Amino acid sequence: MNSVKRRRSLAVKVGPITIGGGAPVVLQSMTNTRTSDTAATLQQICDLAAAGCKLVRVAVPDAGAADALGELVRDSPVPLVADIHFDIDLAYRALERGAAKIRINPGNIGGTAKLDELCRRAADCGAALRIGVNAGSLERPLRQKYGGVTAAALVESALGYLETAAKTGFDQTVISLKASDVPTTIEAYRLIAGQVPHPLHLGVTAAGPLESGLIKGAIGVGTLLAEGLGDTVRISLTADPLAEVRVARHILEILHLRPRREPELISCPTCGRCEVNLIPLVNRVAKLLHDYPHPVKVAVMGCAVNGPGEAREADIGITAGRKQGLLFRRGEVVRTVPQDQLMEALQEELKQFTAVKQSLSGSGKSEEVETWT
Ligand code: SF4
Repeated sequence: MNSVKRRRSLAVKVGPITIGGGAPVVLQSMTNTRTSDTAATLQQICDLAAAGCKLVRVAVPDAGAADALGELVRDSPVPLVADIHFDIDLAYRALERGAAKIRINPGNIGGTAKLDELCRRAADCGAALRIGVNAGSLERPLRQKYGGVTAAALVESALGYLETAAKTGFDQTVISLKASDVPTTIEAYRLIAGQVPHPLHLGVTAAGPLESGLIKGAIGVGTLLAEGLGDTVRISLTADPLAEVRVARHILEILHLRPRREPELISCPTCGRCEVNLIPLVNRVAKLLHDYPHPVKVAVMGCAVNGPGEAREADIGITAGRKQGLLFRRGEVVRTVPQDQLMEALQEELKQFTAVKQSLSGSGKSEEVETWT
C-alpha cells in the first residue's frame, strides 16, 4: 500500500491534541449554532467529536459567545478553537475562558501590535494560534503589489504575521492560506511549505454547497495531502457540519492518512456489456452500507468480464451475469446466484461478515480482514 511521505513540521499543542510534528492529520470542523446557546452548541460539538472531529471551532462574535466558552470548554470532549474577527478583546476573553486555540485573521484585527499582544497572552495561557490569511481580507498594499489576490501575495502576508509572532518568541502557530479559488489555494500552500516550519491548516474557503464544495475540497485539500502537505484539515461546506466531517474522513482514508473505518463501495461505471440494471442496484447497496459499522469493501460489477478480477481487493462482491450472477470474496467466486437474488445474496454475505467481525472483536483477536477469507 502506498503511503504519503509527509512534510515535517513543528509540533503545536492544542490541549491534548498535537498538530504537526509528524502527528496524524487532525480533522476539525466548526459549529453553526449560536455559541451563546450552550446546550445546542455542546450537542453539536459532541456530535462532531463522535463523528471523528479532534478539534472543534466555535464562532465568537460577541462577549456573550466568549463568556459561553467557559461552560463549553468544561463540558466539551475535544479542545475548542475560538474564531475571532475584528475585536481582539474577544480573543483575550476566550483565552481567559479556556480556549485551547485562537483563530484570527490578523488582517481584520488591527495589525501587528495587536497580534504581538495576543501571542504573549496565548503563550501565558498555553494556547495555540491559527493565523488565517484569507483572500477576501488580503491587505490592500499586497493586492496592489501583486495585481490582485495571488498565491504569492497570500504567502507574503502570512510571512509578515509569522515574523511578528516569532519576535515575541511564540511558535505555537498554525498557518492557513485560504481562497475560494482552488489553484490559488494549492499554489499558496506549496509556496509557503518550503519557507516556514509551521503546521499547515488546509481548507478551501467558502467552497459552496455539498456537491460543488465536496469537489473543491477533494481537489484542493486532497491534492495537498497527496503531496505530503497539511497537518489539520477542515472541509468547508454549506451543509450540516457532520457532512464536512464525513467528507474529510473519506479524503483522509482514501489517501491512507487515516485507518479505514467505513465501508467502501466499488462499482463499475456500466457500459454496453452490463447484464443488469446496475445503477439502482448500486444505490440499494450504498443505502445498505450507509450506517454499516465495519470497514468492509464491497464490489458491485455489471458483468463477468471485469467482475471479480477488477474487484480482487473487495471483501465481498457481486457480479451480474447473463442469467445468473456471481458472489465472490476477495476475487474468488463463492457461488452462482440467480440474477434477481443478487441483493439478497449480498445481504446474507454481509451478515456473515458482521458475525465474524463481532466474534473477533469479542475475542480480542485482530480484526484484520484477512481472517474473513
Ligand atoms: S464491469 Fe462489465 S459492465 Fe461494468 S463497465 Fe466493466 S465491462 Fe462494462
